[in-house]
Amino acid sequence: MKKRVELLAPAGNLEKLKMAVQYGADAVYLAGKLFGLRTASDNFGFDEMKEGVSYAHEHGKKAYLTMNIIAHNQNVSQVVPFLEEAVQTGIDGVIVSDPGIFQIIREAQPDLPIHISTQTSTANYRTVEFWHRLGAKRIVLARELSLEEIREISEKMPDAELEVFIHGAMCISYSGRCLLSNYMAGRDANQGDCAHPCRWRYHLVEEKRPGQYYPIEEDSSGTFVFNSKDLCLLPHLPELIQSGVTSLKIEGRVKSSFYVATVVKAYREAIDAFYEGRFQDVEQWMEEVRKVSNRSFTTGFFFGKPGPEAHNYNTSSYIRNYDFIGLVTGYDEEAGRLIVEQRNHFRSGETIEILPPEGSFTQLTLKELYDEEGNRIESAPHPQMKVLLAGIPPFPVNSILRRRTITGNTGKTAESGL
Ligand code: SF4
Repeated sequence: MKKRVELLAPAGNLEKLKMAVQYGADAVYLAGKLFGLRTASDNFGFDEMKEGVSYAHEHGKKAYLTMNIIAHNQNVSQVVPFLEEAVQTGIDGVIVSDPGIFQIIREAQPDLPIHISTQTSTANYRTVEFWHRLGAKRIVLARELSLEEIREISEKMPDAELEVFIHGAMCISYSGRCLLSNYMAGRDANQGDCAHPCRWRYHLVEEKRPGQYYPIEEDSSGTFVFNSKDLCLLPHLPELIQSGVTSLKIEGRVKSSFYVATVVKAYREAIDAFYEGRFQDVEQWMEEVRKVSNRSFTTGFFFGKPGPEAHNYNTSSYIRNYDFIGLVTGYDEEAGRLIVEQRNHFRSGETIEILPPEGSFTQLTLKELYDEEGNRIESAPHPQMKVLLAGIPPFPVNSILRRRTITGNTGKTAESGL
């Protein structure tokens, strides 16, 4: 029987790695200080990498290292020394896109599993065969594939591990094959430094009338012609799992711990429900993924080439219905108080939800708040301050406190689909 599908989550830093593991990921992917396509995420030094990989292994999970930049000459000599240290941390594999880096790794660490990044835009079974014959263990398929194409590749290449993206931001181009950011901001998307100009607002200018901006508008908000909605394949997990893929990947190493935990937990529960024959009531999981920032959802290329419905023409801001307000760090048994690290301002009297790593969330009203010295407070004045909550039962460490966004505000655009 085929192994259960892997749920693979982003780990932008150590905290996010631990949250992903606790909330149900089977594996995480992370970047070191070199070669990973994410300059905006914190990324891991080797000591942290070792701690993160050990944490994953202690919980029976895997950790893969991304090395998927488009490499230039100056990068070549850095590969082996970087890799030697990375291997010492116990990583379970590396994700690469550059054939030169692939070759160097095969020569230097022949036993290290290599995954071929989505940056290679692998979109047919012969390309999968090409990488598989060269010794790649897994191929991350291009995001621009339909279910039918994924099925066909899986049938024709049963021995190759296939990985597909199931959730997160999308590029307007084939992933990574975009020079907008280089051209407009001098920042290289293929080196992990995308400025996201695909989300910017555009006007029309006639060349002899500089400074006269003609609006191109869907409505008064403007027009965001390149602004893709976020991918969400949660309702289609059964078809995807039955297609024979090995791993389901969530995008977003620069997203928050709150985002990672919430999305991972929703997919974990949905995948488990599928294997237990109770994949119904998809809305319960969709409701959860809607509670973290998103640009509303699309199925991308899953059912064929997407039309205008896959884009958000009204705004490039996120929809954000809930705020991450705190993280449970312990419980004071003697005083009967839940210990929380504040992440966003909250005060007594507010209705909040507490989401533990396992089980459903609890809604409750905050009663008495105390600081670490035992003084009663109405709210915590400093970010990251420890706050003790009276009258609330114990919850596991790293349970999330969230609150419906008061103003219904939206976040600023910040992330890409690389
Ligand atoms: S997010 Fe993707 S499509 Fe948008 S500018 Fe960056 S690389 Fe290009």
